[in-house]
Parts: sequence; structure tokens; C-alpha cells
Amino acid sequence: MSERTAIVTGGGSGIGAAVGRRLAADGTRVALLDLDGEAAETAAAEIEKEGGTAIGLAVDVTDRAAIDAAVADTRTRLGRPVILVTSAGAAPIHPFLTITAEDWQRTLAVNLTGTFDCCQAVLPDMVEEGWGRIVTISSSSVHSGAPAMAGYVSAKSGVVGLTKVLAREFAGKGITVNTVPPGFIDSPMLRATVAQGLFALEDEIAETPVGRVGRPEDVAATCAFLVSEDASYITGQIIGVNGGRNI
Ligand code: NAP
Repeated sequence: MSERTAIVTGGGSGIGAAVGRRLAADGTRVALLDLDGEAAETAAAEIEKEGGTAIGLAVDVTDRAAIDAAVADTRTRLGRPVILVTSAGAAPIHPFLTITAEDWQRTLAVNLTGTFDCCQAVLPDMVEEGWGRIVTISSSSVHSGAPAMAGYVSAKSGVVGLTKVLAREFAGKGITVNTVPPGFIDSPMLRATVAQGLFALEDEIAETPVGRVGRPEDVAATCAFLVSEDASYITGQIIGVNGGRNI
């Protein structure tokens, strides 16, 4: 991997933090954007301790002005961003008949509109460079459904559609756009779902063909390939990382 610059949203935790570590280990300069700015800065400091180049920025992906400012800051401090991995996400649990208009709008704002805004904010740099890579992080629930997660599954389904449109629209400009729908990856989000009693970890492991919970590094390795030169003929694809749970 050449010395390019990447932006990773949700980079302070779980899958996003693992993507940041992996891309940095591969020689990419990374800007980690997260609602939790302190977590993003800590993750960036850990990368720097390992010899990588990283910055952490507090950004709410529902705030377009904050995204634009973070992209400009990244360009100034690390160079033009030409890789984007959108891992920021929130998966609130609401039985369908209790979902309020605010719940619905907020879930779409974080997961879908946030992804749209990040793509629109970073794509001009990729177009100017004549090279770019976007990996959106969707969800295996797009294929399986998930009770009490109507907003989340609808938003992530929108992310899959957005990915395909961008793949078609920017294919001629050296830019690929793919989505990774993770399934059953051990992260704070998964642990929070377990803590709410939605399912038991051991039961789910028993139902997972490869016989273990996924690691954030499993998703990071897939993203690292998708943003590499070797993946230049792969665009508009859905690359599941789920231990065989969705086939
Ligand atoms: P995670 O550890 O909770 O990471 C998500 C990160 O996104 C957190 O740091 C969170 O910050 C941040 N975030 C939330 N709302 C944000 C906002 N408005 N602006 C900026 N950052 C925001 O969970 P994860 O499992 O790594 O999730 C990463 C992605 O994978 C998500 O898009 C998730 O939907 C997707 N996914 C995960 C699984 C799984 O099995 N783990 C399965 C399917 C899909 P706070 O902690 O401060 O809220």
C-alpha cells in the first residue's frame, strides 16, 4: 500500500478502530472520526505509538458542517483523503410499534444520511486524484432482518443501495465503492446488544458455522484488501464477513 490518506468514521471503537490500525500498519495515513473525540484521539495515539501516522477528530456524522471541517483538516494535516471507510453507526432497539418519529429520523440520520454526507464530502478529492476507494460498513441484518431494529435495517439497506449507485457513477474515475455487511463481530455494539438480553453470546457462537464470534480485525482485513490496488476490478459488491451465518 502506498502512502495514501484514509478517513475512517466510527474510528474510535470496534470495527472502525481495527480498520484504522490495519490501514496504518499497511502504510496509510489515517484520520479517525468519531462522536467520541477522546476515543478517536486515544486510538490515533495508539497507532502513532506503533509507528503509524494518525489523527483523531471529534465528529458527529449527522453534522455535515463538522464532516466538511474534518475533511479539510485531514487534507491539511495528512494530505488529500482518497480512501473512506464509513463505520460510524448506531443500532438502537425499538419494538416497531413504539418507534417515534424522532427515533426513526435519528437512526436514519446516523446510519444512512451520515454515510451519504461522508461520501459526498470526500468524493471530490478522489475525483481530483483520479483514484479512490470507499468501503461502506452496512450489516448482515440487511439480508436476515432483525426484530425491533426497523430503523437500523432500513438505513443499512439504504447504505447498500447508495454503495451500488456510487459504484456505477464513479467507476470511470478510478474509484471503487463496495460494502461490507458484518455479522456477529465482537465489539462494544455487540456487547451492548448482549447486555440488553437480545441474545446470548454462546448460543450465537453455536449457530455460527465457523464456530466463533468474529473479530473487528476480520472486517479490517477485508477492508484493507478492498482499498488496495489489487481490488481495482471489484466495485459495487457486497462482501459479507459473518462466519458463514449468511450465505
Ligand atoms: P461500535 O464499537 O459501537 O462502533 C461504532 C462507532 O460509531 C462508535 O465509536 C460510536 O461512537 C460511533 N458513532 C455512533 N454514532 C455516531 C455519530 N453520529 N457520529 C460519529 N460516530 C458515531 O460498534 P461496531 O460493531 O464497531 O460497529 C461499526 C459498524 O459496523 C457500525 O456501522 C455497525 O452498524 C456495523 N455492524 C456491526 C456489527 C457487529 O456485529 N458488531 C454487525 C453489523 C453491522 P459512540 O460509542 O460514542 O456512540
